[in-house]
Amino acid sequence: MAALAGRTAIVTGASSGIGAATAVALAEAGARVAVGARRTERLSDLGQNFVSHTLDVRDPASCERFVEAVTRELGAIDILVNGAGLALGRDPFTESTERDEEVVLETNVQGLIRMTRLCLPHLRDGGHVVNLGSVAGRQAYPNAALYVTSKFAVRGFTYALREDLLGRPIRITTVDPGLVETDFSLVRFRGDEEKARQVYEGVEPLTPPDIAECVLFAVTRPPHVNVDEIVVKALTQSSATRIVRAGQGD
Ligand code: NAP
Repeated sequence: MAALAGRTAIVTGASSGIGAATAVALAEAGARVAVGARRTERLSDLGQNFVSHTLDVRDPASCERFVEAVTRELGAIDILVNGAGLALGRDPFTESTERDEEVVLETNVQGLIRMTRLCLPHLRDGGHVVNLGSVAGRQAYPNAALYVTSKFAVRGFTYALREDLLGRPIRITTVDPGLVETDFSLVRFRGDEEKARQVYEGVEPLTPPDIAECVLFAVTRPPHVNVDEIVVKALTQSSATRIVRAGQGD
């Protein structure tokens, strides 16, 4: 029998990259999966097997509508994957703006916390919350203050929630990847394709399915096992800043 047969899952940020790959992996493992993001047309590309609704994690009303619609259709939830997230820019903090601070922190921190709070009452016993953290949440690197701050917060929230849920049959995991080739860099560099391409130049980065497998591993352990964190990097990356590129040494 499929590992997640009879289970239900929500994946936020499923219109692209890691979220999309995770939604597919959970569905292939037998779960009924609800997906959310702002670009609903890209959610439709996942196919008809998914329950899809528009979701802006920065907007409380949108989150409430999403959770209400999904639980109406799927009933109780077994797995919540908080995948929605982004970075803006690679500039010194002195270049930061009110707008960027708002967007990054509201999406990565407040949005993730909000979705977790709204979903928790619908999580069945044995439920699981998986947060997409980052190596940026473990070690700071230059010119990424907002993103680093947001991902440290995700890790802090994951562990704080683990404390508050201790004794209840709900598991919580943070999956902290290094470089994964997705639209992440395109968004970070505000649509500059050349800058985005350079991030992955000369490297064999992780792929979204690599991360989806990590999520799948965590959620398919026996019920008494809580995988607290998974840190995963490309073989040629040892930290946020140290990456060996072909022909360049490091
Ligand atoms: P991506 O391909 O750009 O996907 C980001 C997803 O987040 C999209 O589906 C986007 O959907 C969604 N999103 C952004 N703002 C949203 C909002 N306000 N409401 C709802 N959804 C929103 O990037 P990715 O690499 O897959 O990133 C997924 C997660 O992995 C993020 O949390 C990121 O920080 C983390 N991560 C990525 C890497 C990497 O190297 N790529 C490494 C470590 C961690 P819409 O734009 O359609 O709303």
